[in-house]
Amino acid sequence: GRNSFEFFNDQLSEGMHENLMLESALRMAVERNELVLHYQPLVSFNDFTVVGVEALIRWQHPIQGLIPPYKFIPLAEETGIIGDIGLWVLREACRQMVEWDKAGLNVARASVNISVQQIETGLLPKQVESVLKETGLAAERLYLELTESTIMQDPQQASLAMTEFQKMGVKLAVDDFGTGYSSMAYLKRLPLDRLKIDRSFIKDIGADTNDEVICKAIVQLAKSLGLETVAEGVEEESQAEFLKGLGCDVAQGYLYSKPVPALELTASWKKK
Ligand code: C2E
Ligand code: CA
Ligand code: CA
Ligand code: CA
Repeated sequence: GRNSFEFFNDQLSEGMHENLMLESALRMAVERNELVLHYQPLVSFNDFTVVGVEALIRWQHPIQGLIPPYKFIPLAEETGIIGDIGLWVLREACRQMVEWDKAGLNVARASVNISVQQIETGLLPKQVESVLKETGLAAERLYLELTESTIMQDPQQASLAMTEFQKMGVKLAVDDFGTGYSSMAYLKRLPLDRLKIDRSFIKDIGADTNDEVICKAIVQLAKSLGLETVAEGVEEESQAEFLKGLGCDVAQGYLYSKPVPALELTASWKKK
């Protein structure tokens, strides 16, 4: 009826209004330096030393506090703001690495997440090149993380960009491995260095044998292709033991550390 139509219409425009507000707030957030990176350590399953960090974005909102990425990254991607945000993340992560170097803290590698829109523009390889030059970070110390869906959404552009990154010496990881619509073909065709096993396969280790079998298969597949494996979202000792037993190389998860501000990591490393 007419009433319910009106109702639906109001809801719709309200949602659109909210998005517009969020969009302009997000644009201002970039200019006002309200975006921050937190860093989560990656540890070796060999000796449990830190082998790198993943940079994860948050929005430090003056009123709402710390806003997690799932609340604004999708809109940033839809509106194209992700181009500016992504470049900022790259620059900030590389700058932070050099700052850690200067403080005598050797963080071997930093990982940065890349959205599909950054691949589609074709601008990313040049941007990465100039950020590395500008900050002085060695290319081998930067990992770019692309999800399977990013790779499959535009396989040609992704392949082009990835070849450029390989030439520069920048490392490449497939993020959330096993959750996208996987194509085994790209695994042998693309210059990959690392597979990150999605947390959804890790969280029920010990309870779901299907997940255990999948983890085992992913680790074996990666090994035969000469790729390093990272287990995402390791929360329990028993999961770590199982994954180490499979020959998984690197762990990331709350068991070791949540993502924390750079200063917090710096302080805890200096104490050690
Ligand atoms: P992701 O790349 O898969 O990042 C891993 C997520 O898992 C992070 O969530 C991290 O905090 C969380 N995590 C790590 N260990 C554990 C654990 O043991 N248990 C649980 N429950 N969670 C764990 P976060 O920081 O909220 O980021 C969510 C997603 O937002 C990321 O998923 C990534 O897709 C996206 N994102 C974050 N930063 C950026 C960025 O700079 N650029 C882009 N394009 N996307 C980003
Ligand atoms: Ca990631
Ligand atoms: Ca991931
Ligand atoms: Ca994930």
